[in-house]
Amino acid sequence: MSASSPQPLDQAPVRELTGWGLRNRVRAPVLAPRSVDALAEALASAARDGRVVCLRAGGNSYGDAALLEGALTLDSSALDGILAWDAATGVVTVEPGVTLAQLWRRILPDGWRPAVTPGRGGVTVAGAAAANVHGKNNWRVGCFGDHIVSFEQALPSGERLTCSRETNPDLFAATIGGMGLLGAITQVTMRTMRVASGLVAERQTAHGSLAGLLAAFESAKESVSDLVGWVDTSARGAALGRGLLGESRDLALGEDPLAAETLRTAWERWPSGLARALRALPAGLIPTLARPLTLPLGVWVANRGQWARGSRASAGHWRRMSYPAANFPLDVIPNWRDTYRPGGLLQHQAFIPQAAALEAFGALLRRAHAAGYAPSLGVLKAQRAADDFTLSYLVDGYSLALDFPVRRQSEPGLLRLLRDLNDLTLDYGGQLYFAKDSTLTPAQVERMLPAACAARFATLKAQVDPRETLQSGLYRRALRPALRLNTPA
Ligand SMILES: Cc1cc2nc3c(=O)[nH]c(=O)nc-3n(C[C@H](O)[C@H](O)[C@H](O)COP(=O)(O)OP(=O)(O)OC[C@H]3O[C@@H](n4cnc5c(N)ncnc54)[C@H](O)[C@@H]3O)c2cc1C
Repeated sequence: MSASSPQPLDQAPVRELTGWGLRNRVRAPVLAPRSVDALAEALASAARDGRVVCLRAGGNSYGDAALLEGALTLDSSALDGILAWDAATGVVTVEPGVTLAQLWRRILPDGWRPAVTPGRGGVTVAGAAAANVHGKNNWRVGCFGDHIVSFEQALPSGERLTCSRETNPDLFAATIGGMGLLGAITQVTMRTMRVASGLVAERQTAHGSLAGLLAAFESAKESVSDLVGWVDTSARGAALGRGLLGESRDLALGEDPLAAETLRTAWERWPSGLARALRALPAGLIPTLARPLTLPLGVWVANRGQWARGSRASAGHWRRMSYPAANFPLDVIPNWRDTYRPGGLLQHQAFIPQAAALEAFGALLRRAHAAGYAPSLGVLKAQRAADDFTLSYLVDGYSLALDFPVRRQSEPGLLRLLRDLNDLTLDYGGQLYFAKDSTLTPAQVERMLPAACAARFATLKAQVDPRETLQSGLYRRALRPALRLNTPA
């Protein structure tokens, strides 16, 4: 079969698929087209046959955004061509399945980086556009969509469209952040960002309370490139929300005397010696050894240990490290999510306007503690609103992401807690993130989305996908009922 000839839909092999958090599982027929034409044709042909299609790429969404039981799943991850790269302007055109790590490797030697990088190198450009992802520099450079110049997408009707701020602007604004529910992105052109070295300067400082940590974020914002806070989820009382602030600063021209060399080798030298040694261990050994750290006592010990280590080492000295090591620290440990087997993990990420952040994050942590669930990990980021996009979760303020290990016996209580945290987030005027979500209810989505935005998205969905070919677990569970699109499946 040639790369562009359509694969027969009926012969798609049925596979078990999971969200990145491993808790959400489905069985579904999966096709991974070998060309964008084949992707477009598979979507159009499924639509003609009245089939339901779920789009999937890197599979890094935590919950059910790229999963639907029994739906024909079109996987873009094999479409990974970098089609055009202009090292003079930093504009790149790629196929949908190109990963952020792949893009970094290609453009860093020429002195450029992707402007927005989420915490995992395996996230694809299509997945990043569909969720409109953010990085540790969100307050400063905005979200992924802010750097997209144009993209092409295939609609269920078979039509192929170019979308930009000038051409089909409504679809441009709604597809970015539209969670794969309007069309299949087949190509993206975007701007990247100049860097002067393959290294970045980093330091960590310790702050004994949530108020102190947030104040440190505020005073660092002016002078650094990236910011991320680690929150000690075991701390209570006056120490609630204490944590470590990681600041990174891009090096200026001339600061790295070996810039040409470090730009070329930053990726080649990553992972580090330690990481290479970890990778050489038998698969599954690290997750097995680390599994006790996901139990309540282990979570407490791990957080106390990290705080003790971080606050001791926090002389605030700047040190240099490679961009990949700074951006994808967790990717260094192979299969670390397997630590959470068999139950998996659920992440709750609350985006709260600046004025309410201190009170809201304190309330979220206290509520989790009171319910008896200690998050294994807490991560704080500074955020900026993204009003140009129809479905936007971003606010001018902060987000707190909390990872919760899932255990069968306590799962119902955990789900109740997460729905409760959703309500609490909304009470503070906050937002939740579809790419991380597994628990939003239709009523919560209705509360979260401004009515005009929901109506605009619903109108576009009805126009470009009138038979609701494109669906996902998230769409069925929460978004569709909230948009009041109740066509039978
Ligand atoms: C360890 C880890 C850290 C993370 N850190 C961050 C972070 O810092 N910031 C952040 O914003 N996110 C973060 N994420 C979430 C992640 O960036 C998003 O879930 C992202 O959407 C995943 O992209 P993917 O390529 O894996 O796509 P998938 O998860 O497979 O799909 C994501 C969405 O894209 C849609 N889609 C897939 N292919 C197409 C296509 N061709 N056309 C249109 N739509 C399509 C799917 O239907 C789905 O709705 C993190 C995830 C992990 C696992």
